[in-house]
Amino acid sequence: MARLTVITGPSGVGKGTLVAGLLRRHPEIWLSVSATTRAPRPGETEGETYFFLSRELFEQQVAAGGFLEWAEFAGNLYGTPRQPVEERLAAGCPVLLEIELEGARQVRHTFPAGFQLFIKPPSFAELERRIRGRGTDSEEAIQRRLQRARVELAAEAEFDATLINDDLAVSLEQLEQQLGLR
Ligand code: ADP
Ligand code: 5GP
Repeated sequence: MARLTVITGPSGVGKGTLVAGLLRRHPEIWLSVSATTRAPRPGETEGETYFFLSRELFEQQVAAGGFLEWAEFAGNLYGTPRQPVEERLAAGCPVLLEIELEGARQVRHTFPAGFQLFIKPPSFAELERRIRGRGTDSEEAIQRRLQRARVELAAEAEFDATLINDDLAVSLEQLEQQLGLR
């Protein structure tokens, strides 16, 4: 696995599900915990899923250079805290970032040797089914995410590789293969 791996793909494609499966199989991988101004969904925990910040605190962190990258997505701010990533990389630990397109582009400049994987759905209709099936977003949030999904899907060619998340068990094996873990 590359020292730094980025996973990107439209909201609802199954990134979180795939990454959770990957970490169960490879506990040596360190997944960065992002900061966000989005409200927690049921079951999400502070410091594990995200660090949930007010917009004011988030902007203070931006001004202080505390993020490796950050972006606005569907009306909320998301960022990767810089220090923990730099510490893990310095310790030789494989680092995984699960971030959206703008953040991936920033990281491509700061870590050109990193590996960037794009996850796409079998079809747009299936993506919409998954976002709705997750049942955690308002209709407005779903519409914003679907709109943004079209932009992200158009950027697939910028990435080092693509994985189509159709059958979950198959996709997990392909993910391991693409990251050089099997
Ligand atoms: P993301 O992190 O990309 O926003 P999630 O991991 O939250 O996506 O997955 C969105 C929804 O799709 C969840 O309900 C999840 O259980 C479901 N899902 C994920 N992968 C698959 C798959 N391969 N086939 C069918 N449903 C899936
Ligand atoms: P969600 O609100 O569904 O958890 O995440 C929305 C989008 O933000 C997803 O595409 C996710 O990958 C992305 N995201 C999560 N954390 C970060 C981050 O630290 N930086 C950036 N740029 N995007 C992030």
